[in-house]
Amino acid sequence: MTDVLTPVLSDIWDAEASWTLQTYREHGGYRALAIANDMAPGDIVNLVKGSNLRGRGGAGFPTGLKWSFLPPPDGGPRYLVVNADESEPGTCKDIPLMMANPHVLVEGVAITSRAIGCDHAFIYLRGEVVQVYRRLLAAVREASDAGLLGDLRVTVHAGAGAYICGEETALLDSLEGRRGQPRLKPPFPAVAGLYARPTVVNNVESIASVPGIVLGGAEWFSGLGTAKSSGHGIFSLSGHVERPGQYEAPMGITLRELLELAGGIRRGHRLKFWTPGGSSTPILTQEHLDVPLDFDSVAAAGSMLGTRALQIFDETVSVVRAVTRWIDFYKHESCGKCTPCREGTYWMQQLMHRLEAGQGTPEDIQTLDDVANNIFGRSFCALGDAATTPVTSGLQHFRDEFEAGCHTPAWELFPPEASALE
Ligand code: NAD
Ligand code: SF4
Repeated sequence: MTDVLTPVLSDIWDAEASWTLQTYREHGGYRALAIANDMAPGDIVNLVKGSNLRGRGGAGFPTGLKWSFLPPPDGGPRYLVVNADESEPGTCKDIPLMMANPHVLVEGVAITSRAIGCDHAFIYLRGEVVQVYRRLLAAVREASDAGLLGDLRVTVHAGAGAYICGEETALLDSLEGRRGQPRLKPPFPAVAGLYARPTVVNNVESIASVPGIVLGGAEWFSGLGTAKSSGHGIFSLSGHVERPGQYEAPMGITLRELLELAGGIRRGHRLKFWTPGGSSTPILTQEHLDVPLDFDSVAAAGSMLGTRALQIFDETVSVVRAVTRWIDFYKHESCGKCTPCREGTYWMQQLMHRLEAGQGTPEDIQTLDDVANNIFGRSFCALGDAATTPVTSGLQHFRDEFEAGCHTPAWELFPPEASALE
């Protein structure tokens, strides 16, 4: 087994009142900011570049490189926007992190703001999690009252619960007060972002990893994990495992190793299929138990690492039903801006419901495949592509269950009571 869990971000989650400034400071909190305040901004950027930290929101774009894309200062404002709109199905790492230790994020925001020369940072939070909103506000206030933020202004903004607002440019539109819909890229936010000014948009976990890199150094961080996927990451296990939850481990840990930590598949059952990073990442099966969970290895296995949201399903679950639920989600969340996604998710939903009810035909399966292939690569943003992955990977690994949907309802083949969690 990869030798250790790496409790860096989660190290104080079990401490009493872990979310307070006092507890955070008792465990060394804000030491990294003091160090960074004595560093030249460019040196902080180079440190993060040297650590090989890759964005933890799912895409894995190198964080330090993204920061270095900002044009040289021109006297106007530049912004940091933390994407805290965690909404990917199965993904539950940023919300626990912000609840248990909001100060590590606030400290990361302060260090990053210094690195990129911004004096107003935003944390855009998913609107449904009111408890996280309150906790972040309290943490920002505590840090500010303690004089830790200097002149930096940090605004915590709650969205209204649209999945598309996790797409960085839709998020920026929403933050500006408009309906959240993706913008054409390029220009990337680094060049023209919030209010058309240079903006760094980073995921919560990426920014929260920065204090640890300042304290531990680039070599320490890049020495963890694998050569091309450095460091530690929070892996969220949900579904049919004995102990679901968040496990912080080096990148490159395998599902088999994570299952050992999580007590295995629920007693008396066996693994059937799983997602490495939420429903936007193609499903994998039992044969992928030993794939290292790093960006390249998961891609080589035919999926994507994504948000490390491992949704685990045992043999009681109908693939057709699971795919139908995911397609319901994408159909509901499609913002409607472009035709392939708006219309395609509607058609995929109709076809999946027919197959789930055992009323499909072989032509329906062919049409489903065609619709998915016509959405993929032709949509305006990543949501359209993502919506096709449950269908195409489901057909790839479990075509027989789609074919069974031409004569037998999924609920007869896989009674829902059998897969219900206690
Ligand atoms: P992307 O690859 O287009 O971009 C990733 C980041 O790199 C962006 O910030 C982008 O601005 C930046 N970037 C890329 N090329 C650049 C360039 N040439 N110059 C400057 N900046 C550049 O991916 P995306 O569409 O932003 O995100 C897709 C990912 O989001 C998926 O992999 C999925 O896993 C993830 N996702 C996460 C959640 C969640 O809840 N965390 C929800 C949905 C999707
Ligand atoms: Fe909107 Fe879907 Fe098009 Fe993205 S792919 S712009 S979510 S309609």
